[in-house]
Amino acid sequence: MYNHSRNKTLGKTLAKTLVAAGALALASSSSATAGGSKVTWEDLLNDHKTNGDVLSYGLGLKAQRWSTLDQINSDNVGRLTPKWSFSFGDEKQRGQESQALVHNGVIYVTASYSRMFALDVKTGKKLWQYSARLPEGIRPCCDVVNRGAAIYGDMVYMGLLDASVVALNKKTGKVVWKEKFGDHEAGYTMTGAPFIIKDKKSGKVMLIHGSSGDEFGVVGRLFARDPMTGKELWMRAFVEGHQGRLNGKPSTYTGDKKAPSWPEGDYKNTGKVEAWSHGGGAPWQTPTFDVESNTIVVGTGNPAPWNTWKRTKKGDDPRNWESLYTSGQAYVDPTTGDMVGFYQHTPNDAWDFSGNNEIVLFEKDGKKYGAHADRNGFFFVTDQEKLTKRGGKINRPLSLVAAHPFVPDISWAKGFDLKTGKPIEVEGQRPPMPEPGKKQGKKIQVTPNFLGGKNWNPMSYNPETGLFYIGANHWTEDYWTENITYKKGAAYLGQGFRIRKQFDTHIGALTAIEPMTGKIVWTAKEKLPLWSGTLSTKGGLVFTGTSDGYVKAFNAKTGKELWKFQTGSGVVSIPITWEMDGKQYIGIGSGYGGAVPLWGGDIADLTKPVSQGGSFWVFELPKELAAK
Ligand code: CA
Ligand code: CA
Repeated sequence: MYNHSRNKTLGKTLAKTLVAAGALALASSSSATAGGSKVTWEDLLNDHKTNGDVLSYGLGLKAQRWSTLDQINSDNVGRLTPKWSFSFGDEKQRGQESQALVHNGVIYVTASYSRMFALDVKTGKKLWQYSARLPEGIRPCCDVVNRGAAIYGDMVYMGLLDASVVALNKKTGKVVWKEKFGDHEAGYTMTGAPFIIKDKKSGKVMLIHGSSGDEFGVVGRLFARDPMTGKELWMRAFVEGHQGRLNGKPSTYTGDKKAPSWPEGDYKNTGKVEAWSHGGGAPWQTPTFDVESNTIVVGTGNPAPWNTWKRTKKGDDPRNWESLYTSGQAYVDPTTGDMVGFYQHTPNDAWDFSGNNEIVLFEKDGKKYGAHADRNGFFFVTDQEKLTKRGGKINRPLSLVAAHPFVPDISWAKGFDLKTGKPIEVEGQRPPMPEPGKKQGKKIQVTPNFLGGKNWNPMSYNPETGLFYIGANHWTEDYWTENITYKKGAAYLGQGFRIRKQFDTHIGALTAIEPMTGKIVWTAKEKLPLWSGTLSTKGGLVFTGTSDGYVKAFNAKTGKELWKFQTGSGVVSIPITWEMDGKQYIGIGSGYGGAVPLWGGDIADLTKPVSQGGSFWVFELPKELAAK
């Protein structure tokens, strides 16, 4: 842990700081109040306004990842220095994708292999550690990552790789309850951070979480639980025609019971066409919550299998089919668990574009919008008044306000028709079926590739510049179909691929975009893919991490790189900031992994030199600069 700084100018300071932190850790026990006091719904409701804590994934219910702290700013960020670093330890390294929480002197950070650590904010001293005992046969598609915790009352919550969610006493790390929600051997798993909301109608506070597993043919489901006991309140499936559950009893069907957006003939004959029964749509990322309209907003995953012909009536044009409610943004009523609105980014998705990426809620000229940078390469702006409205038909196409390309040379669609909300697809971009007697279909090139113009790594919004900051990637792939039949626990894709470089110069492109016009104000290019979330601050800064190990700060207006620090392993997590005793801090995890080294083809080779790791870093300004 001590020898992995490669930054010469900061190396000396780092050594001093670490020695000091070590000495402090030995000399002091954690303060008596650390981890104490309960987190209330009001605390969560105001999270975006309170700089002394970070209580929600997204730094607020709208997930803008915006902080009004400005002590660290574009003039002094160059002097940012590590305060302490904590190693997650064990042989368990792999990708560290977590966004940490901060409450009452304690940092709660989750780590690979379903672990959570409580750390003293001042010293980095470990207060407790939780390591889930994971069974044989877990099937995470895209590394053993975890993206963060939720906090409420005197508990912290996280999802586990064996398709369960656990509540821990936040002071001791002891398990309070644990609920399993899916068969891990069939591919159900959980990597996303759970989320706390309050249903306005019933007054109930709820823990909301989804599941992962589309690559194994799961049926994607969203759950609401009593945070105190773990008891399920409702469940909503995101494959049309599957039934939800409310208070332990079967509830409404999702969409139409007969699932007309999935091949009808097969459904009528068997009641369970193969793809429909394993249709994906998993909401594996964290929702946002519109308090005023009392609506949960969440992205839904790709339809399974990836092969579009398995979800199209034989002989028909796949563009006539939708595979609802996959690869889109879903709006769910917390009282009933019913879906009230939906917009589909990629109808009858043939590319594993998925719709999971976060929907950031924002306002402009008194109107409410959702912003979403999709893997399919388009930046969507949706009308939240329409999508959260009750009583009407699920408002699909009419809610689209804008769809701007945010990566170059998108090959699968020319753009979107704002009247119908549908993509203008380019002919021949759905990988064709294998010729009779052949195992593989004809190879075609598709841009962006299935890892997307942007993947899970959440973007941030700066209401002062009016810009969104996206950790985007410019890359392409060769794509072809393969024959596929569902087999429990086996990959359910029906498609082969080879991810390739699009440009010699770069893959990663930190991108600042104006949401209404789609104007790309600046990009900062990176050799390796970007897989880290971004954070925007009133200090005029954008923070993010890079796969080659740096934490970086950029000027929010110009994109000029102002500061970087080498953490020793790739950074694929989400930065946070908070204030304590009048001083602003930046915190971020380090540890390379995620989907790129596992699925990335040529790009995976490019990332081979990146060292594994697992640590959490806290940065501060020198004393003289932090004085008010
Ligand atoms: Ca806060
Ligand atoms: Ca997927």
